[in-house]
Amino acid sequence: MLRFNRTLSQCCLFRFKCGWRIVEWRMRFRKPSGLSSKREVKYNPDMLKLVLMLKCILIMTSVITLMTALNRDVAGQERKSASPEDYYKAWTEGHVTSIDPSKVRHRDLRGYLDRLQAAGLRINEVGRSGAGREIRAMEFGRGPLKVFLWSQMHGDEPTATSALIDLFHYWQSNRHLPAVAAIEQSLTVRAVPMLNPDGAELFQRRNLQSIDINRDARSLVTPEGQLLKRLRDEWQPAIGFNLHNQNTRTAVGETGRQATISLLAVAHDPSRSDNPGRVRSKKICSTIIHALSPYIDGQIGRYDDTFNPRAFGDLISQWGTPVVLIETGGWQGHSEMDLVRLNFVALAYTLQELAAGAVDKANPAAYDALPYNETGALFSLIIRHATIINRYREGAFTVPPFTADLAINLDATRATIADLGDLGGFTGLDEIDATGWIIAPVRGNLRTGSEAALLFYKKDRAAAIDWAVDDLESRYPPEAVFNNGKWTGGKWTGGK
Ligand SMILES: [Zn+2]
Repeated sequence: MLRFNRTLSQCCLFRFKCGWRIVEWRMRFRKPSGLSSKREVKYNPDMLKLVLMLKCILIMTSVITLMTALNRDVAGQERKSASPEDYYKAWTEGHVTSIDPSKVRHRDLRGYLDRLQAAGLRINEVGRSGAGREIRAMEFGRGPLKVFLWSQMHGDEPTATSALIDLFHYWQSNRHLPAVAAIEQSLTVRAVPMLNPDGAELFQRRNLQSIDINRDARSLVTPEGQLLKRLRDEWQPAIGFNLHNQNTRTAVGETGRQATISLLAVAHDPSRSDNPGRVRSKKICSTIIHALSPYIDGQIGRYDDTFNPRAFGDLISQWGTPVVLIETGGWQGHSEMDLVRLNFVALAYTLQELAAGAVDKANPAAYDALPYNETGALFSLIIRHATIINRYREGAFTVPPFTADLAINLDATRATIADLGDLGGFTGLDEIDATGWIIAPVRGNLRTGSEAALLFYKKDRAAAIDWAVDDLESRYPPEAVFNNGKWTGGKWTGGK
C-alpha cells in the first residue's frame, strides 16, 4: 500500500513537472515584441491553443489515474475487510447445514449438494464408493491457482464436510462481494465432501473393505483411494487440504489445553525438508492460526509431521501437490455446529487471503512455534480424592477402601475407567472434587477399562451401610449415580 502511494505521488509529481516544462517551453516560443513589460507580452495563438490542449490532456489523465488508483485501493480494502469476525458472523447468519455433522449421512449430503447445484454451483459425480454411493465434487471459481479439498476420508470424522457445504454456498450466494469475486477470479477451488460415504453411513473410520483409506495411498486397493489419486493426478492442483477430526482428548503440548484444531504442513519427504511448497503450506497454516486465534487462542496444536509413506497427505505432497492437514478436535462446552463454524472461518478466510496474494506475506514461524499434539494427558472427567470401595473379593482377598483419583473417558457409546491413582499433573476436561465421598461401582470392582457406572455416597454414611449386599443401590439409595457419562438417580452436589 505504502509503495503504491509512493508510486502514485511520483506519477503526479512527474505530471506536474511536465506541465511546468511546457509552460517554460511555451515562454520560449512567445513572439518577440521588443518590450520588456510582462503585461505586453504577446503569444503565438496557435502555440497557446496547443499548450492549453496538452495541459488539459495531462490534467485529465492525472485525474483518471488518481480515480483508478483510489478505486483499486477501495476494492483492495473491501477485499481485505472480510475479517475472520466477518466470516464468523456470515456463517451464523447464513449457514445452510442444519444437521449435527456426526448425524449427516450420504442421503443428507445429497440433499445439500442438490440444493447447491440448483443455486448454480458446478457439481459433478466423480466416482463411486465400494457400496456404489456416488461421490461428487463441487467447483467454484475460474482462476489460475488450483486448490483441492477433500473431507471425511475417515467416515466418523465429519465436521469439515458440513463446513465445505456452507463455504461453497456462501461463495455462490455472495459473488457480488469483492472478496468473493477475487476468489472467483484468482482461484479454482474443487472439493470432495465425504470421500468415504460407506464409512460415514456406519459412522466408522474405515471403508466397506474395513481398510483405512488414509493408509492406502501406496497400495491403492480401495476404490475411494484410487479416486483420490486419480483426481489429484488428472487435475494437478497447486494446493491440497486434507480435512479430518482427531480425538477430543488431544492436548496442545504440555499445556493441558484441548487441541480444538491441529494443523500440519505435511512433509513431502522423510527428512521433512522445507521446499517452496512446504513453506507455502506453513504460511497457509499461519494464516489459519491468525483466523482462529480470536476464538481458540492457545487451543491450536501441531500435528506430528513424521513422513508416512502410506498416507495420502504425505504422498500427495510428494507427488507435487503440497498438502495442509486440518484436524478438528474437541471444544469443551461447545457444540458440533460451533466446530463447523470454526472450520468455515478457517477455510473462508485462508482462501480469501490466498486469492489476494496475502498468504505469501504470512510468517511461517507462527506455525513452527505451535506445540505438538500430546495424547494421554487429557481425560474427559477426573474425579479427585475419592474413597473407593470395591465390594467383591479378588479370589481370597478383599481390597480395603482406599483414596485415589479416577479418570474417565467418554466416547460415543460408553464411559470407561481410563486410569486410577495419583493423577496430579493430568487434566480433566471436567473435574470434580470427591473429598468426603465414597464411590462404589454399580457392578463388580473398579478396574481400568471397565465401564464407569458409579454410586456416590457421603462418607458419614459409611458405617450405616452393609457394603456386601448385592442390591446395594436399592437397599441404600446413593446421593448420586454416574452412569454411561451422565448423572442419573440424583445429581452431583459435591465440590468441583
Ligand atoms: Zn482422520
